[in-house]
Amino acid sequence: MAEPDYVIAGAGIIGLSLALELHRRGASVVVLEAGTPMAQASTAAAGMLAADDPHNPIALHALAKVSTSLYPGFLDHISDLSGVRIPFQTASTLQAVSPDADFLSDPKALVPQLEPGSHRFSLLDERSVDPRQLAEALLMAVRNTRKIEGRGIDLRENTPLTRIAAGPASVRVETPAGSLSAGYFVDCMGAWSPAPVAPRKGQMLAVTLPKSLPLKTVIRTEKIYIVPRTDGPNAGRAIIGATVENAGYDLKVHPVDILTLNAQATALLPELAEALFVESWAGLRPATRDDLPILGPSPRQPRYVLANGHFRNGILLAPATAHVVAQLLMGENVDVDLAPFDPGRF
Ligand SMILES: Cc1cc2nc3c(=O)[nH]c(=O)nc-3n(C[C@H](O)[C@H](O)[C@H](O)COP(=O)(O)OP(=O)(O)OC[C@H]3O[C@@H](n4cnc5c(N)ncnc54)[C@H](O)[C@@H]3O)c2cc1C
Repeated sequence: MAEPDYVIAGAGIIGLSLALELHRRGASVVVLEAGTPMAQASTAAAGMLAADDPHNPIALHALAKVSTSLYPGFLDHISDLSGVRIPFQTASTLQAVSPDADFLSDPKALVPQLEPGSHRFSLLDERSVDPRQLAEALLMAVRNTRKIEGRGIDLRENTPLTRIAAGPASVRVETPAGSLSAGYFVDCMGAWSPAPVAPRKGQMLAVTLPKSLPLKTVIRTEKIYIVPRTDGPNAGRAIIGATVENAGYDLKVHPVDILTLNAQATALLPELAEALFVESWAGLRPATRDDLPILGPSPRQPRYVLANGHFRNGILLAPATAHVVAQLLMGENVDVDLAPFDPGRF
């Protein structure tokens, strides 16, 4: 194979969304994946597109807003290539807010089963997706680029990046299956990145909602969120999450943590006491010290580009990350000020 324009390491939502965007712009792309594509954080997520979560850093706002506006086109592009429709699951979120913020006088008008307790809620115009549904379609879209068009994305599973040498004119990457040169390398290795990114574990559970709780709205407090699935194979379920833990690369699920999450959710929605447990799992968010992603060229190696550290918002930020990193790689003006995400800030 001729030398590709770009080699991406990591086939999570960030790596595959970027690969698709670069491919759409006519570039040749190889994606190296250490294990199975879309099997780590990107399918452990709840799928909230929480651009207006008051706990997000302020510096994330512009990128998050761009991503929200790109989302419908992002899903359409994946649907066109995969033949799979990816619906938004919800269109609103009841967000617990601090006492000085504007709040709804009657949140029970929207969710009659809600027991707000001491919480005050505002209503956010926010959507969510089912990350597993999205993952399947995204992977199919990436694979179909090889069937539909001449020069498709070359996705290599079970092929970890083991070494990288970036020079002034090209990069050379090594894997157990051999080495490869390319114009640029992009690190999308999530929590496994050698950049200043650390795994932040999240445990969650899924339940089947009782008929008495036909929830259509996300409910989110500082401690807990309840995210209903309304369309597709998981319709009628809700995701309850999530812990935020510094536990290294441990992916064990602890029943006591799952019971605590369930109890906190049931305090808000007592009807959840009738819900049926479906499954529990854990994933590793790629976290940075300032909760902001790392986007851009490495300070000393311009052909070594970073796109990781998306922490709690990688599903939300995938379209904007793909868009701005593709602009950067192709030498275009970038639509968002990337200064807050500068890899040199640590
Ligand atoms: C419990 C939980 C709930 C979440 N909820 C939400 C939510 O509601 N909304 C939201 O926007 N975000 C949410 N997130 C965050 C979101 O899931 C992540 O930010 C996002 O998935 C990160 O994507 P990624 O592609 O960077 O990482 P990953 O999906 O982890 O992908 C990284 C990939 O790199 C591969 N890799 C590692 N090392 C190598 C190597 N040496 N060579 C090649 N490949 C390698 C890995 O195998 C993996 O496939 C949640 C996360 C968790 C854990």
